[in-house]
Amino acid sequence: MELRWDPILQEWVMVSNVREERPWRPEGFCPFCPGMSETGYGWDVVLVENRYPMLTPKPPNKGVSRWPYIKAPAYGKCLILVETPKHDLDDISDLGLRDIVKVIKKVVNVVLDAERSRFNYVLWFRNKGKEVGVSLTHPHSQIYVLPFIPSKIARELKSSREWFKARGNCLFCTIINEEIKAKSRVVYKNDCFIAFVPFWAHWPFEVHIYSLRHVGKVSELDNNEIYFLSDALKKVLQGLKKVFNKPMPYVMVMHQSPLRGDYPYYHLHIEIYGMYRVSGMLKYAAGMELGGGNFTYDTTPEHVASILREAIGKVGINDK
Ligand code: ZN
Ligand code: ZN
Ligand code: FE
Repeated sequence: MELRWDPILQEWVMVSNVREERPWRPEGFCPFCPGMSETGYGWDVVLVENRYPMLTPKPPNKGVSRWPYIKAPAYGKCLILVETPKHDLDDISDLGLRDIVKVIKKVVNVVLDAERSRFNYVLWFRNKGKEVGVSLTHPHSQIYVLPFIPSKIARELKSSREWFKARGNCLFCTIINEEIKAKSRVVYKNDCFIAFVPFWAHWPFEVHIYSLRHVGKVSELDNNEIYFLSDALKKVLQGLKKVFNKPMPYVMVMHQSPLRGDYPYYHLHIEIYGMYRVSGMLKYAAGMELGGGNFTYDTTPEHVASILREAIGKVGINDK
């Protein structure tokens, strides 16, 4: 288990051979159900350690590196956030608002804990659907506590720092204000959060959820804001299900400031990549996307926003 540095793309790769032993879609057995050795009883939300981690608090020391082959200890944590005791629930958005609040508060606790250690970043993400490789269907998300800042975040930090230097304001706040004015890409808004399809969406049903208040980390949200974040998540994810009247595979990830240092120019948000095209077919990242690094988009983000806005409009308070 180690980190290897790619000096060409200038980013880390996490290497771990313990993952080869990982059970793949076991039948008739769920390690996340109540009463299992890792979860126990008496919880609504529970955090467990990934048994097949990419990172560990006590990584083996794998000897010296020499340019161009640089490695580093796989120092960190891979946690699994089991979001409900209910095995058969489809999605986090099928939980009640108060239960989603509990999930978010667990993430906040991990951030507060990690701030007290030597870690650099907390990445909360959720993979949904077998199309994106989910092996266990019991509703869960994952938290990686990392020794480095993930590449995509590093790019966002760089661009927003440059914007801040040149214009003296937050790039993300500027975009939020433009989206509120334009309306055409906004799919949902409540007292504290706004959800829109970005002008430059990469994935077909891509939605970004931004805090209206300029904050960097999820741990800076107050209780009221956490409640409204849980509402925004529920509405957007339930809306995604309603578009095709079947669950949509998606990846969700929280982008927040790193744990160390000052990032007054960064702004907390959640990105959701819904992977069905407007035709209902799955979108893959292939030659142009994976090989070239640029996405192709089959329709317009404004059209997708209108479809999703309508779907979210049909989400009732009784939707689980
Ligand atoms: Zn289960
Ligand atoms: Zn901002
Ligand atoms: Fe982002």
